[in-house]
Amino acid sequence: MQSKNEKIIVSACLVGIECRYDGKNNLVEEIREMFIKGDAIALCPEKLGGLPTPRIPCEIRNTNNGKEIYNREQKNCTSYFIKGAQKVAEIAKIINCKKAILKANSPSCGYGQIYDGSFTGTYCKGDGFTAQKLIKMGITIYNEKNFKF
Ligand code: SF4
Repeated sequence: MQSKNEKIIVSACLVGIECRYDGKNNLVEEIREMFIKGDAIALCPEKLGGLPTPRIPCEIRNTNNGKEIYNREQKNCTSYFIKGAQKVAEIAKIINCKKAILKANSPSCGYGQIYDGSFTGTYCKGDGFTAQKLIKMGITIYNEKNFKF
């Protein structure tokens, strides 16, 4: 159970904000309720990192430089994702965040499983850049399917 003053971070698309790459959202009513009640802060790392909506979809790839993020037109977009993760981390620190509900499979928000970089809808093990950053801060990450608390 969440304590009274404890705010969680949630992916903005889960509360109905149309910030997805295709201009749509991933609304989950229960998460939207948490946001409306003021228990959750809704953030979109890709928007905070400076990407527009709509945008060309991006996936994480293993390269000679480590993990980088390319869009479907082969443009390296890694810097936007690093910036977005940094901004979310800054906010998480300010509010002393302990838990986050992040959209599954995203190159920013995904935790444990992400798209494999081939743009074929195939998954692989891995974490999105923002999820990774929050984990390092000791924040527990849930997704829209397993967040019950
Ligand atoms: Fe949703 Fe996260 Fe993608 Fe933004 S970056 S649209 S919050 S999954």
